[in-house]
Amino acid sequence: MKQVDVLILGAGAAGLMCGIEAAKRGRSVVVLDHAKKPAEKIRISGGGRCNFTNLHCSPANFLSQNPRFCVSALKRYTQQDFLALVDRHRISWHEKTLGQLFCDDSANDIIQMLLRELDAASGTLHLETKISDISKPDDRFAIETSKGRYSAQSVVVATGGLSIPKLGATGFGYDIARKFGLPILETRAGLVPLTFSDANRELCKKLAGVSVDAVVAFAKTRFQEGLLFTHRGLSGPSILQISSFWQEGRPVAVNLCPSEDIFERLIGARKESPRQDLKTALAHLLPKRLAEEISMEGKFVGRLADQSDKVLRKLAERVNRWQITPVGTEGYRTAEVTLGGVDTKALSSKTMEATEVPGLFFIGEVVDVTGHLGGFNFQWAWSSGHAAGQFA
Ligand SMILES: Cc1cc2nc3c(=O)[nH]c(=O)nc-3n(C[C@H](O)[C@H](O)[C@H](O)COP(=O)(O)OP(=O)(O)OC[C@H]3O[C@@H](n4cnc5c(N)ncnc54)[C@H](O)[C@@H]3O)c2cc1C
Repeated sequence: MKQVDVLILGAGAAGLMCGIEAAKRGRSVVVLDHAKKPAEKIRISGGGRCNFTNLHCSPANFLSQNPRFCVSALKRYTQQDFLALVDRHRISWHEKTLGQLFCDDSANDIIQMLLRELDAASGTLHLETKISDISKPDDRFAIETSKGRYSAQSVVVATGGLSIPKLGATGFGYDIARKFGLPILETRAGLVPLTFSDANRELCKKLAGVSVDAVVAFAKTRFQEGLLFTHRGLSGPSILQISSFWQEGRPVAVNLCPSEDIFERLIGARKESPRQDLKTALAHLLPKRLAEEISMEGKFVGRLADQSDKVLRKLAERVNRWQITPVGTEGYRTAEVTLGGVDTKALSSKTMEATEVPGLFFIGEVVDVTGHLGGFNFQWAWSSGHAAGQFA
């Protein structure tokens, strides 16, 4: 039986950060992961460049049944703190847009930085280790693994959510929570493309590859970012963002040209160039393929001069106020995050420790705290990992 102070389950963003912090306090730390390589999600994140934080990160960028839960951890380890660590390791980075910070070279720079930090603090990492059981027979935890048994004073669950199972995602963290009597809030895929059926699916298929800057709204939430038509439906940052808020059976509102009042522009064009084709006039405002499909679909044909205000208004509505009802999402296969998870009611927002199970901590995505797209999910992993690392 190996004796350790802190056993961390999951060598992703949150687990590594927690391991570094706990080891820096002089605790003996072992991080276990069943995967062959650590932090696979960091590796594939941000298109291989890892959007590792966001300059504008605040609690308003997170979804949770208790929106206040994340406040304390985010305040005690901020985006500036993580940026200072990145700078200390001389990793070059850039702001892409909207405060999103990416590595100039590769996401691997972030992984190597975390591994170097863990090593420098004398933390240990064991990969390809299956965890079969965890119990608390007395004041310590007993953990059975494929590489032997551990006795630990603290156990930190950092096994992430359910998204991208082929990268090693499992519901193991939820199983541990259940075993120790912690409540779980229903999980679902977030930051995920939306899918459609019938005519809408056909339209998306025909337009696959076309992208526009769009405003996408659901109830009172709206995002203005890119929208991409795909063979299966809609994707792009604005759609991924709204997918975390969307409720089944209800439509989302899409403005395909938020910079223009299409009705006013078409009225103006009718005055200036009455002989111009309606489709051509629309193609001055939208990508050509999109203008063509919208014109064909709504049978908006003929010269501008022959179009009534009513027709132009209908066409403008289709562009500026498109109501479209998804049939679903692409699910965990492609989702960037899992919404829901371990109910924050059962955790201390200061330490991330389960209030009823001393020594058991939950951090990162396994907890019911989910960020918007744009580096917020990693910031939550760093901040919650750092918080637990001070107490585990
Ligand atoms: C394609 C993609 C791109 C993304 N891009 C970004 C981005 O650019 N910016 C951003 O902020 N967020 C991004 N995210 C989200 C971000 O990756 C996650 O929110 C973050 O990795 C969560 O960190 P975590 O440590 O909680 O979990 P994870 O990083 O998922 O780590 C969990 C670890 O636990 C291990 N594990 C799981 N089950 C077991 C088990 N049963 N036994 C042992 N080990 C186990 C896994 O192998 C994994 O190493 C992206 C996600 C995806 C899928």
